[in-house]
Amino acid sequence: MRLVRAMPWRATVLTIFPEMFRGPLGVSLAGRALESGLWLIEPVDIRDFTTDRHRSVDDTPAGGGPGMVMKPDVLARALDAQAPDDRPRLLMSPRGAPLTQDRVDTWAKGRGLVIVCGRFEGVDERVIETRGLEEVSIGDYVLSGGEIAALALLDACVRLLPGVMGKEASGAEESFTAGLLEYPQYTRPQVWEGRAIPDVLISGDHAKVAAFRRSEAERLTRERRPDLWAAYLERVRRSMTKG
Ligand code: SAH
Repeated sequence: MRLVRAMPWRATVLTIFPEMFRGPLGVSLAGRALESGLWLIEPVDIRDFTTDRHRSVDDTPAGGGPGMVMKPDVLARALDAQAPDDRPRLLMSPRGAPLTQDRVDTWAKGRGLVIVCGRFEGVDERVIETRGLEEVSIGDYVLSGGEIAALALLDACVRLLPGVMGKEASGAEESFTAGLLEYPQYTRPQVWEGRAIPDVLISGDHAKVAAFRRSEAERLTRERRPDLWAAYLERVRRSMTKG
């Protein structure tokens, strides 16, 4: 039986560039799901919560130094204006815990997210503390703002919502889901620029296909991601000693 949601999965995004959220999530899987009401996105313009004539959202850093810092009072007003609910409140931040498929799975199973996008040098520490924002990073590099990070996070969540992906199964076998990178994929033409698709994949032998994919996934993970490979071996070792 398909899970029917009483309420669509809801993403509230606090940003000074609300227009950035219309385009990218309006196409393909996420866009179709948006149209059919499986989820909804509510960009909130932080600037609407300013009180001064210049509508300032930032000010100079205490202690000096370059750049500007997002003001805690304005951001807190924007957050406090959202009806309280049990959705996690995230702050996109290069200092945050890294985004992983496990965390995405958990959030996709919930009711949605409230996401704050930083700009400038970041946000005043006090608003992170008082509003209990959970910092999330999409990688060890610095973007100019949290919007593109939030888009990446939302894309990863939305494709997992029930009814979004064509085949429910297509999420299950992908990179990271089993702790391994995905095996190489091929499609027609069977021979392209002199290179043939591996014979086993056109043999029709499902067991052999599965074994080939498994060993290729293991090889790629070993070669490219020693960190994931070590964690995988550890899980295999534990499951063997347990059972
Ligand atoms: N001065 C900060 C960087 C600020 S970048 C520092 O050195 O840590 C401006 C904003 O972009 C941040 O507030 C954050 O919201 C966003 N951002 C930048 N890099 C990011 C990353 N890797 N993951 C998530 N958000 C990021």
